[in-house]
Amino acid sequence: MTTIKRTVLVIGAGISGLAAARHLRLNGYEVNILEARNRIGGRIWTENLATHSSDLGAAWIHFANKKHPIYQLAQQLGLVTKLSPFSRYKVVDEKGKRINAKKFYAVLQQLYLCKEREMIERYLAPLSQDISLQKGITSILEKLSKENTDFEQLKTQLAHTKDWELFNLLYESYYATELDKISLQSVLDDNSELVGKDYWLVNGYQAIVNHLAENTQIILGEEVQSITQNSVVTVQTNKSSYTADFVICTLPLGVLQKEKVQFTPSLPPAKKQAIQNLQQGVLDKIVIVFKEKKWQSNYEVIVNVPITTDLFKISFWHNHSHLDATSNTLTAYVAGAEALKMENLHDDLILHHALEQLQKALPFLQKDDILTYKITRWGQDPHSYGSYLYLPVGVNYQSILDLAAPFGRIFFAGEATILHDYSYVHGAYWSGMRAAKEVMATPN
Ligand SMILES: Cc1cc2nc3c(=O)[nH]c(=O)nc-3n(C[C@H](O)[C@H](O)[C@H](O)COP(=O)(O)OP(=O)(O)OC[C@H]3O[C@@H](n4cnc5c(N)ncnc54)[C@H](O)[C@@H]3O)c2cc1C
Repeated sequence: MTTIKRTVLVIGAGISGLAAARHLRLNGYEVNILEARNRIGGRIWTENLATHSSDLGAAWIHFANKKHPIYQLAQQLGLVTKLSPFSRYKVVDEKGKRINAKKFYAVLQQLYLCKEREMIERYLAPLSQDISLQKGITSILEKLSKENTDFEQLKTQLAHTKDWELFNLLYESYYATELDKISLQSVLDDNSELVGKDYWLVNGYQAIVNHLAENTQIILGEEVQSITQNSVVTVQTNKSSYTADFVICTLPLGVLQKEKVQFTPSLPPAKKQAIQNLQQGVLDKIVIVFKEKKWQSNYEVIVNVPITTDLFKISFWHNHSHLDATSNTLTAYVAGAEALKMENLHDDLILHHALEQLQKALPFLQKDDILTYKITRWGQDPHSYGSYLYLPVGVNYQSILDLAAPFGRIFFAGEATILHDYSYVHGAYWSGMRAAKEVMATPN
């Protein structure tokens, strides 16, 4: 008896597509990945800038523990990972005057407490209606300040200084959007069991995607334009047409929202609604490699109070040398509406403005000290149109489930299709594994 291999086309060679393809290949499926870009990795993108690798997309392994699939892979591959506690700050005000970093960090920790699920459960749940994370934090702070003088002081401090704006900016870089857009209910619903510390991949994420891609047939430069299903699935790209038994679609939410790919028959109403309901935030990076390291490496994060006339506000700078003594790189993080503003500016202006901001904290740095740089524009990127998922106020987890639901011979994966740990690399990886298993559980 001859066994006929079942065929699968995976759309997208990001971490979710690579994980899915690998799992299916190892289980005897004939798999091809169609990838629009001329590289693999998608929102994982490591570039060699001068002497060092820099991640222009994902850089951290969040909540690493023994069960963490990416951390496991990193260990298995012997990659250099560094614990990244984000606890050492250099903070300056708009004039460059140093602010006590220890006190700043203590306040930050207190504020972080206000967005913890346990706190929301204790002080606000059950919510009669969804509100924003911003409103949630403010009212928890209000309640805490009545009970605890420390929080009373914190509240007063936030009311009288620009600190609140600074904390907002730091939060925004985490969620890639403004706190008043994020659903508080989504924080309550997020009961991921993954608990652990954050690690930074010193030589970048690329080795992980390269490993997952080994022995998988990947066709680069193939932009999918339409997917038609009947007894098989036919995928039309800018160059060619492919047919398979099944498709795993890992198109980012932003690409689905732009309706750049036509589905025939068209997607079910619940999925279309989910695509409209869910949102991707934008997080960008300005990576600057300097000729030499003139700053200290005893702080991991550099923060400066932005002035209101700023062209765009930088959330914080990450000092690579804190984790890798040989690195001369500083990376600025710009998030949400500020990132969208930045993306419309010319590189020269962005670099000039970024350096001007950085000079408040490190006044000795000059333009001539720059060896090379790279600026991302994830919001404008036609193959992602954003950085990662957040749940807007009033939108609940059902939309993620609807986005993830299989549709005939088409299965869905990607960071926006997983209930817990959405937006993260490991969540995207899990979504790919789930889609692969769904394919395997489907009779021909
Ligand atoms: C700046 C930034 C920083 C981040 N930092 C972290 C971090 O530190 N830690 C973390 O865990 N996560 C981080 N993330 C999130 C993480 O990168 C993503 O969640 C994850 O990489 C998404 O993987 P994916 O497979 O779902 O999507 P993608 O990686 O986007 O893969 C989808 C693929 O589909 C391709 N594609 C798009 N359109 C088409 C088409 N028409 N035809 C064919 N192919 C197409 C794309 O080119 C892409 O390769 C960050 C993201 C960004 C942007």
